[in-house]
Amino acid sequence: MSNGDCIFCKIVAGDLPCTRVYEDDDVLAFMDIGPIIKGHTLVIPKAHIDPLTNVPDELLSRLILVVRKIVGAQMKGLDADGINVTQANGAVAGQVVPHLHFHVIPRFENDKHHWNWNAKSYDSTDEMEGVAAQIRSGLPLEI
Ligand code: AMP
Ligand code: ZN
Repeated sequence: MSNGDCIFCKIVAGDLPCTRVYEDDDVLAFMDIGPIIKGHTLVIPKAHIDPLTNVPDELLSRLILVVRKIVGAQMKGLDADGINVTQANGAVAGQVVPHLHFHVIPRFENDKHHWNWNAKSYDSTDEMEGVAAQIRSGLPLEI
């Protein structure tokens, strides 16, 4: 499963270069060329899959285990003080490359990076309960 227009599929195929950190039959981890913090690594399935809801359970398990490996490797190898793991679904969420990927970003004391988290609030507990009910209505019968 590969998509001829996809940058990450080209990387998997070896048609575009990357700096590999880890690879197995199903998963590739490589350096992000535009690091938020130096060491920023991407973990992707080799198959062209997007968004997160389309990844089969077994492959998702493989992916998250590799994410955990990279988290540990950044802590040990880079002596990172902390790690952010992020993943975007859809352009509105900031996704630029439509091939599932997890960002694993090492964090250091005084790295001067600040997420623009901009926390807001609900007008009332009822409003929050209503939004929670909407989410629950979208849950599959089995997870
Ligand atoms: P997103 O905005 O979540 O889709 O993230 C896409 C990421 O892919 C960005 O952080 C880019 O810097 C990174 N990226 C794009 N092209 C390449 C490439 N050829 N090699 C490595 N990373 C890339
Ligand atoms: Zn792809």
